Amino acid sequence: MPKMRVAQIPYAKGPFELVERDIPDAGPGQVRVKVAACGVCHSDSITKEGLFPGITYPRVPGHEIIGTIDALGPQVRGWTAGQRVGVGWHGGNCGYCDSCRRGDAFACETETLVTGISHDGGYGEYMIAPATALARVPDDLASVESAPLVCAGITTFNALRHSGAGPGDVVAVLGIGGLGHLGIQFAAKMGFNTVAIARGADKGPFARELGAHHYIDSRAEDPAAALRKLGGAKVILATVTAGAAVNAVQTGLRPGGTLVLVGVPESLNINPVPLILGSRAVKGWYSGTSIDSQDTLAFSALTGVKSRNEVYPLSRAAEAYDRMMSGQARFRVVLTMDG
Ligand SMILES: [Zn+2]
Ligand SMILES: [Zn+2]
Repeated sequence: MPKMRVAQIPYAKGPFELVERDIPDAGPGQVRVKVAACGVCHSDSITKEGLFPGITYPRVPGHEIIGTIDALGPQVRGWTAGQRVGVGWHGGNCGYCDSCRRGDAFACETETLVTGISHDGGYGEYMIAPATALARVPDDLASVESAPLVCAGITTFNALRHSGAGPGDVVAVLGIGGLGHLGIQFAAKMGFNTVAIARGADKGPFARELGAHHYIDSRAEDPAAALRKLGGAKVILATVTAGAAVNAVQTGLRPGGTLVLVGVPESLNINPVPLILGSRAVKGWYSGTSIDSQDTLAFSALTGVKSRNEVYPLSRAAEAYDRMMSGQARFRVVLTMDG
């Protein structure tokens, strides 16, 4: 039996273990993916720490996968062996429930499939994925650079393209971390008047390098007032987890503007008066489905959006995970399977 290496979590709150397993076979409707690269995401802590109910262990985390279809299970149509594919958080959907039939496959009611949580993910040389979870990868996208695009990338890309902002509108991205550094690039490439907001003057040059037209140092000035000086933001994309930072920007929205949350603060203080008087909104955005990943990858290939990554071999998965959790990584952490 041919073997593969995976980095698994043996039980909730357990340590990473590098183990050999039999290479699995794809079942009906599934494909086997030979993993080239897998991003390390903060949401992998759900698997590591057992934060969702019902996770079965041992479990292999990882939902930022770029690889190649290695084998097809029965009843798979539209995909062929040898195709490059991406697999993100969205781990597949049924296609026949009411949500799927309404085009809301992200809210599939039949199966809640999440890559690396409900089934094994990409911290390994091979993984099994439902065909409904697959995105096509353009030939000219490098695997390591594009792995985070199927989670951090799709989240910011999809939130921005559905935000209601149009070309030339002021769009602010709060935070320049793993999510924010992609959000700024996408916002600029989508033709928005792009504003980056972060703490400290030192981040300004990098924000501009990513495509931001304006940089607001929230330590030096009131970020909401600075946004109002620019005419007010049609959209503020909040990528940070500090609730106070989100609270501080909300009155920078122009009338009809929307504060879109993709980071997860513990709590927020939203002032309802400007919401009501200016028909402003606060909303969250789910990342997206496999076709949204595919659109993200295609847009990134077209416009040159790239994730900046620190790269580790699979054998150092535990170290890579700790580095990501430290919050110090610049900007995403990616595992490769060649060491
Ligand atoms: Zn993720
Ligand atoms: Zn469904």
